[in-house]
Amino acid sequence: MSLNFYGGVNKIGGNKILVDNKDHSNSSENNISSLFLDFGMSFSKAGDYFSEFLQPRKLNGIMDFIELGLLPKIKGIYREDYLKHCGINSYKEPVVDGVLLSHAHMDHCSHIHHLREDIPIFMRKESEIILQVLEDTGKTSFSEIMNTKKSFHYVPKKRGEGYKKLTGDEAKIKRTIETIKPYSPFEINDFKVTSIPVDHSLPGACAYFLENDNETIVYSGDIRFHGRNQEYSNKFLTEAQKFNPTTMFCEGTRINEDTEKKIETEEDIEFEATNTIKNHEGLIIVNYPIRDLDRLVTFHNIAKNTDRILAINSKQAYILKLLENEKDIETNKYPKLKDPNIAVYFPRKKQGLISGEHCVAYDDDWKIIDSEDDEVKKDYETWEREFLDEDNAINYTNLKEDPKKYIFRCDFFELNQLIDIKPENGLYIHSITEPFNEEMGFDFKRVENWLNHFNLPIYKMHVSGHGKGKEILNMIREINPEKIYPIHTEHAKLFDILRDDGITVIHPELKS
Ligand SMILES: [Zn+2]
Repeated sequence: MSLNFYGGVNKIGGNKILVDNKDHSNSSENNISSLFLDFGMSFSKAGDYFSEFLQPRKLNGIMDFIELGLLPKIKGIYREDYLKHCGINSYKEPVVDGVLLSHAHMDHCSHIHHLREDIPIFMRKESEIILQVLEDTGKTSFSEIMNTKKSFHYVPKKRGEGYKKLTGDEAKIKRTIETIKPYSPFEINDFKVTSIPVDHSLPGACAYFLENDNETIVYSGDIRFHGRNQEYSNKFLTEAQKFNPTTMFCEGTRINEDTEKKIETEEDIEFEATNTIKNHEGLIIVNYPIRDLDRLVTFHNIAKNTDRILAINSKQAYILKLLENEKDIETNKYPKLKDPNIAVYFPRKKQGLISGEHCVAYDDDWKIIDSEDDEVKKDYETWEREFLDEDNAINYTNLKEDPKKYIFRCDFFELNQLIDIKPENGLYIHSITEPFNEEMGFDFKRVENWLNHFNLPIYKMHVSGHGKGKEILNMIREINPEKIYPIHTEHAKLFDILRDDGITVIHPELKS
């Protein structure tokens, strides 16, 4: 068996590990499998070349990525439309049997966009929901994962002569997505695969067990032991012990961290924020990651503790709605959309008519548009209009008139809402990761400028999605694999201490 690491080596994220049992020289050998563990983007590597205004070109398909080493040079895995357009012949059949996705963070899944649609992507329902919402609500290029859009395609015009470019739903191709159930083994050729839930900073995160005649492999995905689902990680540990792995791929994002901090758990954030907010009269503004529904629960609890309503955006409302509709998912963990302590905030968009305070001209006659007017809806995307009809839909006037009543979740790109809200005596809780690269540093400086402009003091309250050094090392010791491959870390050498426990530590080489 060969193990090839096309990402996640000496970097945080970008995991693309190919577990390959196939003899590619012999095409009749088709009952032996070859699987990718995740197919993510390395943010730091992409950031070496690209920024907001300097982006890979769609016209060049995968080639800008390949040129700069952002995608591996492997034949038989990439989309036909991207290849053909660049004059490269595609294969009839894909050369890999699938991708096992550990969770729906971009550094694990984003480059699935470039893969052939007929390569099955195995993931949990929660990951599907998150990726579907991001796809339905986002507009950036190279972002579709659940569906692809045939690019560079022309079809005969229905009426008249000539061809027209294939667009919209007609261009859509559904990717092969296989929904997997936790703890239920399934087979992919000669591999038996099991997905084991772990605690991480979004729903649906899992580790994988892979076994065939030669090897038993454990892939940790991203894991922590201090979140709201720590029992998942504990169960993973016992199951992995029983599995008795020959090989383990383990993340080490925070392998170099062990210091005790004031805030270590979601409950600590709850306690700290409740106390900070308790006697506060102004608007509370918070930013936490959109996919982190454990953090949503935290701020929902804080809202309940302080008699406030958590105002989320329509994107997060959409995630809650889809989760609510799934019977198989433990959705009672998350607040219902109609919960009395949840509201959905609508920013002014397009013409900005939602508050009933703004006018448009009919000929030369300027008229205030009532917030109930049909015209208001046209300011919003189709997917979000249903939330607009609900009783808990609010806008800036609610936050301005009754600031004591709300906790406003405000993403980085929503800071311009402060101009409409004009918060007085408010405060801001920064509940996302500290900037760890230059670009994030610039963004954070901008956040500070906005907060200073509106005299909003800043409080930082965050806990990580990753286990600390000792937790990770002790987990590995207890699982006791024969070989360990440190991945998803900038401090791989710190795993070497496991050699004292008789574990072989292998530092994989990055393939391109
Ligand atoms: Zn992650």
